[in-house]
Amino acid sequence: MTAINDLIYRQTKIIATLGPSTSSRKAIEGLIDAGVDLVRLNFSHGDKESHIERAKLVREIAEEKHYHVGIVGDLQGPKIRITRFVNSKIDLKNGAKFTIDDQHPFDKGTEDIVGTTYSNLAEQLKVDDILLLDDGRIELRVEKISGSKIVSEVIHGGLLYDSKGLNRKGGGLSASAISDKDLEDIKVAAKIGIDYLAVSFAREAKDIELARKLLNEAGSDGGIIAKIERAEALDNIDEIIEASNAIMIARGDLGVEIGDAQLPAVQKNLIKKARKKDKVVITATQMMESMITNSIPTRAEVFDVANAVIDGTDAVMLSSETAMGDHPVEAVEAMSRICEGSEGQSPITSKTSNYSIENKKVDRAIAMACMLTADNLNPVAIAAITESGSTALWMSRINHSVPIFALTTHTGTLRKITLYRGVYPARIKTIDTNHATVNKDAVNVLTKLNVAKDNDLVIITKGDLAGIEGGTNAIKVVRVGHLVED
Ligand code: PGA
Ligand code: MN
Repeated sequence: MTAINDLIYRQTKIIATLGPSTSSRKAIEGLIDAGVDLVRLNFSHGDKESHIERAKLVREIAEEKHYHVGIVGDLQGPKIRITRFVNSKIDLKNGAKFTIDDQHPFDKGTEDIVGTTYSNLAEQLKVDDILLLDDGRIELRVEKISGSKIVSEVIHGGLLYDSKGLNRKGGGLSASAISDKDLEDIKVAAKIGIDYLAVSFAREAKDIELARKLLNEAGSDGGIIAKIERAEALDNIDEIIEASNAIMIARGDLGVEIGDAQLPAVQKNLIKKARKKDKVVITATQMMESMITNSIPTRAEVFDVANAVIDGTDAVMLSSETAMGDHPVEAVEAMSRICEGSEGQSPITSKTSNYSIENKKVDRAIAMACMLTADNLNPVAIAAITESGSTALWMSRINHSVPIFALTTHTGTLRKITLYRGVYPARIKTIDTNHATVNKDAVNVLTKLNVAKDNDLVIITKGDLAGIEGGTNAIKVVRVGHLVED
């Protein structure tokens, strides 16, 4: 949760993945107090009950603190993984032999052999293929294949934990887009009341459309995040962005598929593309990796977060750092500090010169006009009264430094907004039909949050008819304490 009460407007949002290190009430409370805007439930790990329990804790704590915290349910997708070890991890030595066998019992892995979730693996590999485990940290060379057993030599060893991902160097190992497990997890996600569903290993817009359909059928209207982590997704990127609410630059798997040297340019391009198409973008994976064990980030990690922020990412994400690291709260605090420190240097925070829009939609034009007015008048805040949050989203695609408060009666909208850069959710109890009352109510919300005080300038956007999506057609500039009666 961005610390609006301290009048510190961190624009960039922080997503923290929950896991064994962050399952207790105390740990989750620590994350939320440190400034987490959304949590991620990673359906690749843990059981259904633990996700439901964590989500329940998030909702309870957020409610107690009057915060709005979004929940992202992240599907495993057709990712190939090793199964589990007897002692949850092993230490692989360079030069050692290591066998992967889908017939091996799923929780009986050892230093010599482990199971896999993919039953066709042996058929798809050949001798001398390179296997990359845990986003490329561990490298194996296939030496021999006999039946279901893939015998390999360890090229780069190290600690290997339960259920880590497995890729073939160069890509090309993948099953269908939404697995049977994903179908079950979509139902769990809908039951939990997630705000976003992240679709792993999406290849084309159809995968996103299918996920949305299944999520809707399960009774949820959560937004869809397309995880860009396959080479093929980059070939279809425009249609994928258009079909999604947000994209995630999933650098772990994407880097394995396209090579790490390509990643920085691809990341910059994806951030630009998403913003241009009025969509949200998340930068993810290994941002604070050394903080899994250390209490401060490396300089390189500081620069990595800063560069994503300067380029305009909406959100930055923590994975193992908060899910299984030793310093989850410190990781969030460090990330928050770096975001705030970098935003001032970002072109996204400075004025825009071009306020034209491609379509002729009234609400879109009002969002633009509001930002132009804000540039000229420099108000303390914008209060966008909104149903679905679109007006606030459009405003946030325009370079700005004025905080945008999305005022809505809808709980789902309040939680979706947690992902938008520079937009802060604020509940308004009712939207009156009388304009003077609406203005007063909007200003009251901001004064209660200590965002505005007497004589401050505020810009309000709203529609004539409350409860109508896409109805925003008016801008009102008010001075707090001097409200005009219309
Ligand atoms: P994951 O996705 O953490 O679910 O693997 C992110 C990535 O691949 O970078
Ligand atoms: Mn991934």
